[in-house]
Formats: sequence, structure tokens, C-alpha cells
Amino acid sequence: MTDDTQPPVAAAAADPQIVRAELADWVRGHWDPDLPLRDWRELLLESGWAVPSWPRRWYGCGLPGWADELVAAELVRLGAVGIPVGSGTWLAAPTILAHGPDQLRERLLRPILTGEETWCQLFSEPGAGSDLAGLSTSAVLDGDTWVVTGQKVWNTSAHHADMAMLLARTDSSVPKHQGITYFALPMKQPGVEVRQLRQMNFHASFNEVFLTDARVPRDNVIGAVGRGWAAALTTLGYERRFASLQRPSYSPAAGRALDEARAEADRHFATYSWYPQRAGRPDLVVEHARTAGVAADPVIRQAVARLITLYRVSAWTAERARVARAAGARPGAEGSIGKLAASNVARESARVHSMIAGAGALLTGPDSALGGVIAEVLMSVPGQSIAGGTDEIQKNILAEKVLGLPAEIRVDRDVPFSQIKGRG
Ligand SMILES: Cc1cc2nc3c(=O)[nH]c(=O)nc-3n(C[C@H](O)[C@H](O)[C@H](O)COP(=O)(O)OP(=O)(O)OC[C@H]3O[C@@H](n4cnc5c(N)ncnc54)[C@H](O)[C@@H]3O)c2cc1C
Repeated sequence: MTDDTQPPVAAAAADPQIVRAELADWVRGHWDPDLPLRDWRELLLESGWAVPSWPRRWYGCGLPGWADELVAAELVRLGAVGIPVGSGTWLAAPTILAHGPDQLRERLLRPILTGEETWCQLFSEPGAGSDLAGLSTSAVLDGDTWVVTGQKVWNTSAHHADMAMLLARTDSSVPKHQGITYFALPMKQPGVEVRQLRQMNFHASFNEVFLTDARVPRDNVIGAVGRGWAAALTTLGYERRFASLQRPSYSPAAGRALDEARAEADRHFATYSWYPQRAGRPDLVVEHARTAGVAADPVIRQAVARLITLYRVSAWTAERARVARAAGARPGAEGSIGKLAASNVARESARVHSMIAGAGALLTGPDSALGGVIAEVLMSVPGQSIAGGTDEIQKNILAEKVLGLPAEIRVDRDVPFSQIKGRG
């Protein structure tokens, strides 16, 4: 990091106004829309503005957690570009930062933050979703390489990812949570076969991934061998916190860095184009009731008011989580509460849209309810209460970890994985 690129005051200040002013100063001196995007992001990394809450050694400047969102928003407002949005930056990078080791931080963080390498998450398996620790994909060390065999499923964006967060079993002789290792798996290799799954809402955002003697370099272990569960919990914590990611609204101005950033966002968000519908589109309910001519119907009015109340309360829960995050808190109960609230809003919203549209809610095509959006809502909403941990699992977490209620009976927790019927 050179003196020229260091933010001189911001690192010492915990004041948003000073951070904004420092950033604006730095952007004025360095932003060049004609740079290749990668060169611009290299500057950002060196300056410490890439992820300002991270340590100086890792592309940050040691600011409190709130600075990350503030700086990302300010960069876009100033007409510039920040780090990419994707599971590399919101899941893999914080997990690697938290669990290391340094040689992986050194090798993997930079290409994630410049956007050169995109990531996907290979956690779920046909027999291990909610019971993630029951996974049976195995990794065996052969000289300097781990050889991985098994099947993963529901893996969003695996069809275009360069790298994967992979959980695999490296020891079956110990209880299930203890024999798991977290790997950084290179996706573009002969042992990795990705098959896209066609969904009932006509999108194809996730995949089956077949691993047949896939190779992982010996040192690509995030955390330590056999300690993958702790790192997996970090990833899942971040996943609940950032249940919906916003597309940055880059300046429409000309310039190579901006063109490349817009193309990158187009590629990334194509996969997620149905996610607003998955959230139920409560934002469209009032307009829908008005255009359908039923806004004065007393039953519909009650249903709309109830939904919007739930939606606002859920937004406040999300705001509470955002503030806790900004204050530097680790992922906590608010992630599970927010995720459950989002499921309730989505379901209720789908119900209210259906009340308004009647049987027409099922129609697709340009002359259907809101141009087919409502039909897509109905088919997408179930995914909201499954992705990132189902509603029932969030309730179990809240019951046990927050309310201190008795734990679920778990008969397979303390026995060696190889002795669990149907697993080992
Ligand atoms: C849109 C979307 C994107 C996804 N992206 C990814 C991804 O990128 N990478 C990835 O690895 N996975 C991904 N998933 C998979 C997701 O994590 C799993 O679907 C989820 O964890 C549930 O697992 P399962 O589907 O095997 O259901 P199961 O675990 O088989 O659950 C079936 C039902 O049983 C209930 N149940 C299970 N156990 C309990 C219990 N102990 N107590 C009470 N009820 C229980 C569940 O709540 C559910 O209703 C994605 C899923 C969706 C919908």
C-alpha cells in the first residue's frame, strides 16, 4: 500500500461525514472511467477502500462495520465502481478472512475482490440439506491433492462459477460435525460436471454438481482439516444476514470501467432475476389492487393493510440487523428472525395478490395479471422459505440458541459418522 493511495484520516476516524469526505477526495484524485475495471479495482484494493472494515493488510482500513455499506453506496453515488456483488464477496471472502490460513487469504481474496474469479456454494446434497452435517461427499488426500467424490445439488450459479466453497467429509470415524473439511474447489476441471436444473417458474438458476475424482490442491483448505463445520457456520451466518442483495445502480456515463461493471452486473443478476418475485412483490400490491379496480373492497383493503404492516415491521427488523452489523456485531438471532419474517411476507403477499387477481393469478403472458409477474410470484415464493435454511430450521435455531428451550432429540450427534444408519 503506498502513501499516495492511503486514506489519511478515514482510518482513524469513526465519523461517517469524515469518511464520506475522505472517500470523495480520494475518488476525485484516482477515479478514471476509462481504466480497465480490473486496474481500477486494484487501485481500490491498495487504497483500503475496497472493504474498509477489513484490516489494512487485507484491502481495508480498519474502519467500523458500517463503513462497508456506506463506502459501497458512496462510490456508486460518486459515479465510480466498488467491489463486485456475488457469493464470492458476500460469502467466500468473509469466511476466508475469518478462518484463513494466510496463504489462502493471500491467494484467494484479491481475485474475488477484483471480480476475476466468481464463486458458488457446494454445500447441499440430495441426502443432506437441513441436516447439512450429514453430508457424504468425501475427500481423500492423495499426495499433494485431495480427491473428491460425491454429488451436490441446488447450487446457485455453479454453471458459471470459477471456484466453489465445498464441504466434504475427510473422516468418517468421528461424529458427523467433526469430520468435515471446507475446501476451495476449482470448478473448471474434468472431475466437475454441472447440470442445470429447470425450475417450475421457467428459470434455471441452480444446478446439480457431480464430483468424480475432482482435484483440490492440498493447501486449498479453508480453516483446518476436520474443522470445516466452524467455517461453514460463518458462511451460513453471512447468508442469512444478506438474504437479498441489491444490484448497484451504476452511472450510465461512458467509460471502460463502467461498461465492464454494468456487463458484470448483467451477468451476475441474470441468475437472480426471479428473486424479487420469490420475495412476493409486496411493493406491487397497492398498485395491483388499484388497477384491478378492487382497492375499495373492504376485505381486500384489510388484507392489503395487514400485509403492508407485516412488510414494514419486517423492514424494521432488517434495519435493526443492518445497524447491528454496522456496529460490528457478529451474525446473530436477527438473521434467523429476518429470514422468517421475509418468508411470512412472501407467503402473505402471494395470498393477497391471488385474492386481487382471482383465478387470473395463474395466467402468464402479456395480458395476464401484471404481465405474468403474479404467476411467477406464486411459483417462486416457496423458494423463499427453503433457500439458506428452511423456516423450520430457523425456528429450531431461535428456540435453542435464543429462547434456551430444550434441544431437539439428536440421536446421531455423538456417534461416529460411519455408524449412522444409511450414511457411513
Ligand atoms: C433458491 C434456492 C437456492 C439455493 N442455493 C443453494 C446453493 O447455492 N448452494 C447450496 O449448497 N444449497 C442451495 N440451496 C439448497 C438449500 O440450502 C436447501 O434446499 C435447504 O437447506 C433445505 O434442504 P433440503 O432441500 O434438502 O430439504 P430437507 O432438509 O430435506 O427438508 C425437507 C422438509 O423437512 C423439514 N425439516 C428438515 N429437518 C427438520 C428439523 N430438524 N426440524 C423440523 N423440520 C425439519 C424442512 O424444514 C423441510 O420443510 C438453495 C435452495 C433454494 C430454494
